[in-house]
Amino acid sequence: MENESVKCLIIGSGPAGYTAAIYAARANLSPVLYEGLEPGGQLTTTTHIENFPGHPNGITGVQLMEDMKEQAVKYGADVRFGIVTEADLSHRPFRITVDGRHVVAAETVIIATGATARYLGLESEQYYKGMGVSACATCDGFLYKGKNVAVVGGGDTACEEASYLSTICNKVYMIVRKNFLRASKAMQARVMETPNIEVLFEHNTKQVLGDEAGVNGVLLTGADGTEKVIDVDGFFLAIGHHPNTELFKGQLTLDEAGYIVTEPGTPKTNIEGVFAAGDVQDPHYRQAITAAGSGCKAALESERYLMTLGD
Ligand code: NDP
Repeated sequence: MENESVKCLIIGSGPAGYTAAIYAARANLSPVLYEGLEPGGQLTTTTHIENFPGHPNGITGVQLMEDMKEQAVKYGADVRFGIVTEADLSHRPFRITVDGRHVVAAETVIIATGATARYLGLESEQYYKGMGVSACATCDGFLYKGKNVAVVGGGDTACEEASYLSTICNKVYMIVRKNFLRASKAMQARVMETPNIEVLFEHNTKQVLGDEAGVNGVLLTGADGTEKVIDVDGFFLAIGHHPNTELFKGQLTLDEAGYIVTEPGTPKTNIEGVFAAGDVQDPHYRQAITAAGSGCKAALESERYLMTLGD
């Protein structure tokens, strides 16, 4: 038995969710948005954002998300605390359970639950999060202009982030646990040819070092067990992301990494009336602005879909 019925339910409160809410509200869909575990999403864990258009002096992630939320609410979106604990997408209206008890019947659902960056799981890494430890070089790299930084990982993301940081920082160490890079040949070549990137193969991070001002080094262990310290001010994780799609397994088509598969160029999933926007369907770009763009598309598609139902 449902507690309420809505035309458009949005799950997630990053740039994709809030943008979808702004568009859906302005289209009179009276959207309801559940914020989830981390209101504001991943951006709230970054510091200064300098690449979101319209903010020439930069803006903090928290402020950007608060502004988007305010804009959504201003146009009538119903933004609520709450975690979606169950999603039955087997027939329309879709039945979404919030906090294990409140059931919403929704004509359309926009999934914008994002992805979570993987961390190594070290206590010191958690301690210095936002004080030198970051999982987003594009967001935070500029803070380390002229300084030394380290990137953990050997995939395409790590290589891309190291290349990007090499244009800003004095020196970039790549900490790679194997004796090879997993990245594409082109990215490997770019890294190897960049003079201020040093790849430390067969090294693992034992501890992130620092003081009250933030990170100032990393303690590494080599393959033979020897330890060494590198002096860095920034420590970037690039060991993959985990899409937040557990709720939808077995219902929506996911790729082998768990991302929601959408019809190319659209937010349409394999279920009519269910749309996906932002990082939950994008393992490649993962930018606030691309997430916002896809949130806009999801709201427009929801509106079109509802029109076909005659609502
Ligand atoms: P990947 O899974 O490809 O790489 C993760 C890297 O992190 C690997 O080198 C892995 O090491 C390392 N790693 C994982 N866990 C740990 C750990 N606990 N300690 C140390 N190292 C660890 O993730 P990416 O984010 O790089 O890429 C995801 C997908 O997106 C890939 O398919 C990639 O090709 C794609 N991509 C494409 C881009 C492009 O085309 N421009 C840009 C960015 C990503 P190991 O190798 O030992 O497992």
